[in-house]
Parts: sequence; structure tokens; C-alpha cells
Amino acid sequence: MGAGLLFQPALADTKNTATVRIGVLAYKGAEAVQEDWSHVRNWLEASIAGHHFILLDFDQAGLTRAVRERSIDFVITSSGHYVALEHGEGASRIATIESPGALSPRQSIGSAIVVRDDARLRTLADLAGKHVLAVDPDAFGGYQIAARELLQAGVDPEHDLAHLQFTGFPVQNIVHAVRAGQADAGIVRTCLLEQMIRSGEIGAGELRVLAPIDIRGLPCQTSSRLYPDWPIAALRHTPAELSRQVAIALLRMPRTAVGYSWTIPSDYQVVGELFRELRIGPYAYLRLWTFEGVLRRYWGWMLLILALLVTWAVHTVRVEYLVSQRTRALRDAQDEQRRMAEEALLHQTTLDHTARLAILGEMASAIAHELNQPLAAIGNFAHGMARRITAGRLEPAPLLDGTHEIVMQSERAASIIRNIRAFSQKRASEQKSVDLKAVVGETIALFISTHPQARVVWQPAATPEVPTVVADPVQIQQVMLNLLKNALDAQQTAGRADEPIEVQFRAQAGACVITVRDGGCGLAPEQFAHLFEPFFTTKPEGLGLGLSLSKGIIESLGGTLSAAAHDDGKPGLAIGFSLPREESPEDQ
Ligand code: ADP
Repeated sequence: MGAGLLFQPALADTKNTATVRIGVLAYKGAEAVQEDWSHVRNWLEASIAGHHFILLDFDQAGLTRAVRERSIDFVITSSGHYVALEHGEGASRIATIESPGALSPRQSIGSAIVVRDDARLRTLADLAGKHVLAVDPDAFGGYQIAARELLQAGVDPEHDLAHLQFTGFPVQNIVHAVRAGQADAGIVRTCLLEQMIRSGEIGAGELRVLAPIDIRGLPCQTSSRLYPDWPIAALRHTPAELSRQVAIALLRMPRTAVGYSWTIPSDYQVVGELFRELRIGPYAYLRLWTFEGVLRRYWGWMLLILALLVTWAVHTVRVEYLVSQRTRALRDAQDEQRRMAEEALLHQTTLDHTARLAILGEMASAIAHELNQPLAAIGNFAHGMARRITAGRLEPAPLLDGTHEIVMQSERAASIIRNIRAFSQKRASEQKSVDLKAVVGETIALFISTHPQARVVWQPAATPEVPTVVADPVQIQQVMLNLLKNALDAQQTAGRADEPIEVQFRAQAGACVITVRDGGCGLAPEQFAHLFEPFFTTKPEGLGLGLSLSKGIIESLGGTLSAAAHDDGKPGLAIGFSLPREESPEDQ
């Protein structure tokens, strides 16, 4: 019984029958699939026990999806689509179909570019700028194969045609449209034109294949080389045993009445090469990145950007050049300014020095007189002491008093000389924080010591804190001595030498003000305008530099120097200066 059961025909065992789904690319529509491929289904079912085979039709995208979703076990599709599935989904061919009329399974599919017989197109290159019809961007014979040939002929179908129009199925429409003059050319698979002529759909002399290639033995005309025919492929999840059984069964399948049979799988590498050249399918990524492609596509824009870049670069270089030129000019001007300032300072220092020497010159007799006093006193004390010693009166107390006096008087003389030397030295000004009240007081003391006939009344206003200014004390001394000397001169001219000269000090919010008031000859109204001009003098031995230099000094310290007659109509002049107060840290 075991033997009988073992040899039960598989078809009868419906319970254990496994369903095997074959997905087929329906390029001619769903019905055509059943019609064209049912002999394969029937043969497989008859040959492989325990399996029920069904044919499912898909368009290309649907078929890819079905592979991905594993809803089919085998796939029969175009060579182009197969290569994409091989790369993307791991499909592997197990047999290639042998079609009637094909030269061989390896050389079966090509493209024919059909044009009207009377068209003036001769070569593929002539198609540049023309209106061309094709089946679909994914159609292998109906577009991609021809696209490769066009590209090799120097015509990029995507960019160099006036219009590339995809019309879909049925492909016969393309041939009709070209015949009707609706387009210049149409891309269809090789042999379709001949089939349509045979079936009488169109007349023999109406259309022709553009730039036909001579392929020995091929009964049709083709514009392209030929590629392998459709394969049947197993998928990653298809059981290996089932694949083997299907492959063996197909190779054994007898040729059908119309002439179809299966043979060992062809080499589809040429299809891969086509994809690489067109940068489609698995090589679509190349499209994004090639420099040549980008250049070819966007050369206009790139030229514009290049032009803009060049303009920008030229502009930048020019601006930089101008900036460097102006900077140099500015630097030169600054250097010149600095040189002039240095010269002016030198000049000013020399002038200051001259003025001080002039004042000293004017004061020379007074200085001599002043020095004479301590020297005379020293002489007197020395003589007195000598007399005592000669007379033998050697009590130490009077002798010590005498020597003390001599020491004091010699110190007084030394201090006068020290002051005069400091005042007469040629030196650059040296600014620091100065207690103005103290400097003015010291200057008055110096003046009185050299001009004992002068009566100077010093009236500093009491201030809560010590007001300071930023200045050079020697310069302040120079200004003060000049003002005092002028005041005394004016009083002597008026015959009132013993009139008091009042010196006032006031500290205001932002400034310290010094005023020297005399009871001298005063100034005629027209002389006021020239008072501060260099070399203006009314004195026989005057230089006329004192006031102009004093004004320069005070103004260089940010202050002002001015003169006015007395408000109360008394004779004489009031000359004063103000200096900005130094900002104390609390003010900031
Ligand atoms: P100098 O004393 O060498 O003449 P200054 O520049 O100091 O030079 O003075 C210029 C002139 O201004 C003096 O000659 C004098 O005529 C006038 N002047 C200056 N101070 C007084 C003053 N206090 N009273 C009247 N005239 C003055």
C-alpha cells in the first residue's frame, strides 16, 4: 500500500498543494499576461508536483513592490527591470526566454527610432532639437536602449531634444503619432514596426527606422545594439529547491507553437553598463554628483556665478588697493602732523627759554641786589667775629650766633641761585598734578625776594580741599613772574611803585582762577587788541614776548588768559588766568 500511496500524482493532492506566485511585468496590459504566459504556468504545474502556480500581473513599480513585500516567489520581467531588481532586491535569474524572431537570447531586445520616410533626419545626432516620443522613462526597449545610443551620438535625450514625450502603452500609438506628423520621431522596441507593417496596421513605405545598424541575421531594422531577452528570476526568499525545480522544468519545456522556449540564463552585464551610462536604476546616484553632468546642465548659471565671482574678486581687490592707498596717505599725513607738532614743541621750548632768559635779564639788577644782601650780611658777621677773636673775646655764644647767621645767609643765597638756575634751564614741559595756590604763593615769595620795593598782597580764598590743576609748575611760575613784573613796571611808569599789587585766588566748580590787579598806568582802549600779540611792547627795553607766551602756555593747559580795566574806574589793569581743575576720583 505504501508504494501505491507514494506514487500518488501530486496534482490530486489538493490539501498539501503549495501556491507559487509568479509576478509578470504587464507591459501590454493585464489580459495579455494570462494569454502570453499561461503556457509557462501550465508547464510548471504539470512538471513540479505539490505546487499550484499562479500568474499575477503588475506594472513595473507594482512588481518591484511585490518583490519587496515578498508577495511573489518568481518574477518574469524585462531585462532592464531585472537588473534593477538584481541590484536592489537580490533577484537572481534562473533562465532566459528564447523568443521567436530573436537573433539569440543574448541578442534579442533593441530600440528602433521610427521617423516618417520623407523626414530629413539621417543620423541620431539629427534628433537634437526635435520632438521625440517614447514609451516610458522605465521602458527598456521603448526608451532606455535608444537613450544610450543617443547619448553616445552626442544628444542628451533629457536636455538636447525640443520635447521628449512619454506616451505609455499601447506602444503602437507612438508609431501612429509619428505617421500623423504629431512628432518628429518615436522610440519603440525593435521589430514592432515590421510587425505592424505585416499586420497591415500601417503601410510599408510610410515610416522607416532612423540610422539602422547592420546586424547579421536580424530580420528587423534596429537603431541600437541588442540586449538579452527577458529572464525569469528567483527571489531572496524563494526556496532554493523550488528554484532548482523551476529552472530544470523551464529548460525542459518544449518550444511552443509560436516559438517560445527557455534557455540557460544570459549575461545581463551589458544592461548594467547601459544603466551606468544613463545613470539610472542602480546608478541613479551618479546623476546627482558628476561635475560634467552638473556643468552640462547648469553651465549658464555657472557662467553667471563665475562672472559674479570674478566681478566680486576684482571689486574686492580694487577696494583693498584703494584702502591701502588711503591708509598710506593718512599715515603720511599723520607722520607729517606729528613732525610738525614736534617742531612746534621744539620751537615753543626755545621760545619759553628765551622768554625766561629775558625775564631774568630784566630781573638781573634786582637779583644782584638780592644776592648782595646775604653776601653783605655774611661779610659783616665774618668781620665781627674776626674782630672778637683778635680782641681775645672768645666767649662761644656770640661766635656761634655769628656762624649760625653766616650759615642761614649762605643758604638764602644758595636758594636764590637754585631758583634762578631751575627757572633759566632749557627743558621740555613736564605736566603733573599741581597745587596751584602753593605754586603761586612760592612765586610771589621769589618775586618779593628779588623786588623788595614791590608790595604784593596775596589773597588766596580759603578752600575746603586742596584744588589741583594738571600743569608744569615752572611754566606757571613763568606766567606769574611775568604778570607780577608787568604790574610793577606799569606802577613804576605811573609813578606809583609802592601801590599794592593784589593777587587773588578763587576755586570755582571746574576751574581755578588767578587775578593780578595793579594800580599802574593801565592800557589805552586800542592797545587791548594787541596786548597778547608777540613783540607788542611799550617798554624801551621790552621784548613783547611775555604775554603772548603766557597765553600760549595757559591755553595749552586748556585754560584762558585775559585782561581788563578795573570795574570801579580806578587806574590800573587786572590780568588773570583760569585753569581747568583736575578731576578728583570722587568726581568720576
Ligand atoms: P614786555 O613786558 O617785554 O613788553 P609783555 O608781553 O609782557 O612784554 O607785555 C607787553 C606789553 O603789554 C607791555 O609792554 C605793556 O605795554 C603791556 N602791559 C602788560 N602788562 C601790563 C599792565 N599790567 N599794565 C599796563 N600795561 C601792561
